Amino acid sequence: MVASPRGLVSTLAYMTQTTAPGRPKRAAKPQGQWKIDGKAPLNHNEELKAADDGLNVRERIEQIYALKGFDSIDPDDLHGRFRWWGLYTQRAQGIPGGKTATLEPHELEDKYFMLRVRIDGGALSTDQLRVIAGISTEFARDTADFTDRQNIQLHWVDVVDVPEIWRRLEAVGLNTTEACGDVPRVILGSPVAGIAKNEIIDPTPVIQEIARRYVGNPDFSNLPRKYKTAITGHPNQDVVHEINDFALIGVEHPELGVGYDLWVGGGLSANPRLGERLGTFVRAEIAADVWEAVTSIFRDYGYRRLRNRARLKFLLADWGTEKFRQILQDEYLGFELPDGPPAHKPQDAGDHCGVHEQKDGRFFIGLTPPVGRVSGTILNKLADLVEATGSTRLRTTPHQKIIALDIPADHVDAFTSAVQELGLDPFPGLIKRSAIACTGIEFCKLAIVDTKDTTIEAVKQIESRLADHKGKLPKALSLHVNGCPNSCARIQTADIGLKGQLITNAQGEQVSGFQVHLGGTLAGFENGEAGLGRTVRGLKVAADELPEYVERVVKSYSRKSEENESFAA
Ligand code: SF4
Repeated sequence: MVASPRGLVSTLAYMTQTTAPGRPKRAAKPQGQWKIDGKAPLNHNEELKAADDGLNVRERIEQIYALKGFDSIDPDDLHGRFRWWGLYTQRAQGIPGGKTATLEPHELEDKYFMLRVRIDGGALSTDQLRVIAGISTEFARDTADFTDRQNIQLHWVDVVDVPEIWRRLEAVGLNTTEACGDVPRVILGSPVAGIAKNEIIDPTPVIQEIARRYVGNPDFSNLPRKYKTAITGHPNQDVVHEINDFALIGVEHPELGVGYDLWVGGGLSANPRLGERLGTFVRAEIAADVWEAVTSIFRDYGYRRLRNRARLKFLLADWGTEKFRQILQDEYLGFELPDGPPAHKPQDAGDHCGVHEQKDGRFFIGLTPPVGRVSGTILNKLADLVEATGSTRLRTTPHQKIIALDIPADHVDAFTSAVQELGLDPFPGLIKRSAIACTGIEFCKLAIVDTKDTTIEAVKQIESRLADHKGKLPKALSLHVNGCPNSCARIQTADIGLKGQLITNAQGEQVSGFQVHLGGTLAGFENGEAGLGRTVRGLKVAADELPEYVERVVKSYSRKSEENESFAA
């Protein structure tokens, strides 16, 4: 790409907002872009962040709230800044879905927290797993969920215990820093980084450098909205990169060697949008600098006036990739990035289930807990089983799974049998393998319906209904379940995506159900190009009819596959 001041010119044009000759100039409505409109806050969230950095709440938690208890917490800290340290109030038990609009926050939430433990790249040692397990059993009523962003979430946490929980986590190199909030969230990384036989490039050093330089850094602790990062060097593109704000995908450049293809501006929820390639090649040595530059664009130019337009995807939609790249190079990097090739299409799903040989001859084994649900007790036993093989390493995945690394060949059979006893399935069936579900009404204040238990039960029934259909089933088929219109479980990216809502049944009663999305896919695996699922107008299914509905869809899909039609057709 040739150097040119076009990027700066277009930025200036955007900033000055020219009007037709002869007409009085009318100021454009400020969008809260710091570099254009200044830093005056335009809504309560921005006021809250401007008044005090979210990172500063830690001192108050340690010195005031943990000593005086829940009722002493300032509401702006409770419903705002606590997120900067991975803490959300959880839904009060027994509040039905769809009846929350008139409730005050204190009526909707109880006095306990969800605590999100950040695990950049999903990398865990057995010592770290034991510490999380101990916190779960001692302080979180034995709860633990693997999330679809490689975190582990605990529930029922009392603020009085939080300083001790942090002490234990930090003693083994874990933390909850910026696990939630308008900040750089956990960095997704290939769960098989450094060990996979067919890896293009090991992203571990880049992930570690970004985490070291920028997580908890006040220069990046007030972003317009959450900011998601994903980095992989695996050919199966195993980090759902298209729905992240910033992503690096391993590629081999014909002249420059191995490095990364840069994607920006992906995100789901309101106005879902897949990220786009900037067409650049990023060498590993400058990848953290490029992360800093892209994130600085978001901080400085991101829209802050309306919260539902504040993700990077809205800025990219307005600028386009050419202008984005130019501003990145001209204003932030100060040099041009070389053009780069796109990555090849993946040949396989990137969930890493089952037994796979590593490049050193040992094995990694991907395990499926049902929709990510485990417990502290199970995590402790898993650490025992991994150590009994001589290994000490595990990785969480973006598919609510856990992988045991470095298992010697002569331990594989015993290990796979033993983990099955814990409900961690190395060889799940088609639906169990792909099913993911968000937190749902059990703990989430925004939820309308139950997700985890509903999906676990539905998966059992669906697999039994499909038992006579083996051999005719598709190679992969994803089932994602959300408890509300947000998209924590990525429903628009699934073959079958279910969005929780109340529906009216044949008897005229309001019951838990789902709006159906069909035909989403990421990484272009099997179904051609990546694309978002489509809402099937008017197609809703009651929660108790889910197994029958999915059976019908899968059998119909099998027939279409035989006729060479895609799932979305
Ligand atoms: Fe909560 Fe909705 Fe996200 Fe599920 S999708 S965790 S119900 S906000």
